Amino acid sequence: MELRDLRLESACALLQQDMPPADTPLPAAYLQAMIDGLCDLSLRDPLTGLSNRRHFNTVLEAEVDRVARSGEAALLLLIDIDHFKKVNDTHGHPAGDQVLRVVAKALQACVRPMDTLARYGGEEFVVVLPSCQPSYGHIVAERIRRNIENTRIPLGPGVELQVTISIGGAFALQWIRSTTELWTERADQQLYLAKSTGRNRLCLEPQPESHVSAEEKNLLFGHLSAAEPAWIDMSSGAANGSTGQR
Ligand code: GH3
Ligand code: MG
Ligand code: MG
Repeated sequence: MELRDLRLESACALLQQDMPPADTPLPAAYLQAMIDGLCDLSLRDPLTGLSNRRHFNTVLEAEVDRVARSGEAALLLLIDIDHFKKVNDTHGHPAGDQVLRVVAKALQACVRPMDTLARYGGEEFVVVLPSCQPSYGHIVAERIRRNIENTRIPLGPGVELQVTISIGGAFALQWIRSTTELWTERADQQLYLAKSTGRNRLCLEPQPESHVSAEEKNLLFGHLSAAEPAWIDMSSGAANGSTGQR
């Protein structure tokens, strides 16, 4: 099959570009650009331009693996707009979409380039912050909450709106081979707490005290984590932090 014979109509339509001229050879660079464009499309949320859930899941898997091997602190934040249904009901669905776009942009401005922010679904966003010490985690999550609270969202002439968010967060269990599902579940429990205790607030799962330095852990477990992380954490007890850090 010649490159020229490839069926490119759907790809061109998705990428909103013209079909290549029929009478010229198709360079490999053209196809590479098309593949890159399609990959980018498949990893992005079309409304906000943020990473989508699919991309986020890949990043989170990699972070679980990294934390298990390095013992570094990493924070997962689940962010949910408060009473968003009311925005749609009062101002209409397009206004709701505009709120989602503005909130996404404001969130992006609060995080570091190394952090991954994604639209998780509906009016929910998620951020994973690698190399994030607990004290920094509190500061950044609170900064996010306050920034959204203070963001004015223009909806039309003379119409402006402000929304709040609730945030639930959990640090990865260091030196433990956990799962993305357990990590997300722990953050979700905190989000539930933030919602049920009044919204527009941040709840972070308390970090168990660790008296062993990263260097000491490396000496103790480095040889294990180089090949395979030290523990497999499948129990919900560990998910609730009851086993703590080692
Ligand atoms: P809570 O404070 O408990 O989170 O309440 P809520 O109203 O934010 O949550 P609920 O789950 O009741 O409503 C979420 C709404 O988000 C319902 C759904 O129609 C709306 N929604 C989901 N995706 C989109 C979208 O892409 N655009 C718009 N405009 N609305 C959306
Ligand atoms: Mg929600
Ligand atoms: Mg909500």
